[in-house]
Amino acid sequence: MTMFCNQCEQTSGGTGCCSTGVCGKNADVASLQDTLIYALKGVAAYDYHARRLGYADPEVAEFYSRALFSTLTNVDFDLQSQLKLVLECGRINFKVMEVLDKANTEHFGLPVPTPVPTGTKKGHGILVTGHDFLDLQEILKQTEGKGINVYTHGEMLPAHGYPQLKKFKHLAGNYGGAWQNQKKEFATFPGPIVVTTNCVQVPPKNSYLDRLYTTGPVEVPGAVHVTGEDFKQVIAKALATPELTEKPGKTLTTGFHHTAILSIADKIVDAVKKGQIKHFFLIGGCDGAKPGRNYFTELALMIPKDCVILTLACGKYRFNDKEFGDINGIPRLIDVGQCNNAYSAVKVAVALAEVFKCSVNELPLSLVLSWYEQKAVAILLSLLYLGVKGIRLGPSLPAWITPNVLKVLQDTYDLKAITTPEADLVAMLGK
Ligand code: SF4
Repeated sequence: MTMFCNQCEQTSGGTGCCSTGVCGKNADVASLQDTLIYALKGVAAYDYHARRLGYADPEVAEFYSRALFSTLTNVDFDLQSQLKLVLECGRINFKVMEVLDKANTEHFGLPVPTPVPTGTKKGHGILVTGHDFLDLQEILKQTEGKGINVYTHGEMLPAHGYPQLKKFKHLAGNYGGAWQNQKKEFATFPGPIVVTTNCVQVPPKNSYLDRLYTTGPVEVPGAVHVTGEDFKQVIAKALATPELTEKPGKTLTTGFHHTAILSIADKIVDAVKKGQIKHFFLIGGCDGAKPGRNYFTELALMIPKDCVILTLACGKYRFNDKEFGDINGIPRLIDVGQCNNAYSAVKVAVALAEVFKCSVNELPLSLVLSWYEQKAVAILLSLLYLGVKGIRLGPSLPAWITPNVLKVLQDTYDLKAITTPEADLVAMLGK
C-alpha cells in the first residue's frame, strides 16, 4: 500500500513521512520516529509471546499508545524529547524481555545446557520453526506416542534447553539453520513444516507449500493456517508423508540461560583472575542473506582460545557448528538462546561487573551485533538505554539513521559499524 507523507503528500515510507524535509519536517526527527516504530514492532513481538503464556505488563501497553501517538506530531517536534522517547522504548523493551523470560521459565522451567543433535532419525517428522514455544509444546503433546519425531528449526533451537519441552523423547533434534535458508531446507524436509512466527520466507516454494502450516500472526498465501493450537491436520500430514531416514549429524549446544551461567560464576571469575579467560565477546543477533555476514563467522573463528563467546538469536548459525572447545570445563561458545534472551546476556554482564566492582563498560567484554529486523532494533535500544558503549553493529548501519542522529549515537554511546574481523578484533582486545 502506498503511503503519503502527511505533510507534503509525497510518497512516503511506512511512517507517514517522506523524509525529504520539503515540508519543513526535521529529517532527524523523522529518522528517530522510524527508529521508534521499528523498535515498537520488536517490543510487540516479545509482548505477544509473553501474553500467549498469560504474562503482561500494563506499562508496555501504555507505552505503545503514547509512543505511536507521538509519531503523528510533526514539523517542530523536539529532537531531544524524541531521542528520550526512543531510549525509553529501550527501557520498555528490556522490561518486556524480562516479562517474557519470566513467562518462559515459569511455564517451561529453567533452561539447562543441552546438547542437540542435528542429524535425523528414521521415521515420520514435523519441523517447527519460529519463536513460539507454546506451539511447540502443543505439537509435542499432541504427537506423543504417535511415532512422529519433532525437529526444531531456526530460533526454535533453544527450546531443547527447557525442561518442560526437552522431557518429550520425540523432540528429536534440530534441522537446518537460520531463516534465510528456509527455501532450501524446507524443500528437503519430507514432512510438514509449522511456521510459528515472523521470519518466514515468501513466497514459499511449490515443492513444500502443500506441507506448510502457519500459526498466530503468520499467514502465507497457499499455506494452511492452524488456529486454536489444534494440530490434527499437521499430524495427519506427518503420517501421510515419507519418513525421514537415519542420518548422523553434528551436535549443537544450547540452554545457557543466565541462571545456568551464573551457577558456575565462581569458576568463571576464578578463570578470569588466573588469566585463563582474557576477554568475553557477545556475537549475536539476526542472520540474513546479505553479503558481508561472513564477517561474523570469521570473527568468531579468529577469536583467541583464551576468550569466551556468548551468542544468541539466529546469527549464531554462522558458526555454532564449529568446534570451540572449553577453558577448564567452561565452554568457549555459550548459546544463551533466542534474541529475547539478550536479557540473559545483560544479567550475566551485570553480575560479572558486580563481582569485579566495575561498570559493564569496564569489563573485558565486547558486543558485536548483527541486525536484520525490528527485534534487533528494540534490543539495540535496550542496550543503549542501559548505557552500554562501544557496540559494533553490522553488516551495515540502518539506512534510516540520518548522519546527525548517527553522530549523537556515536558521540554518546560510541556505536560503531563493523569494519574487518582482523581490525575489529585487534581494537576489541585492546580495550
Ligand atoms: S533472530 Fe531475528 S532474523 Fe533471526 S529468526 Fe529471530 S527475529 Fe528473525
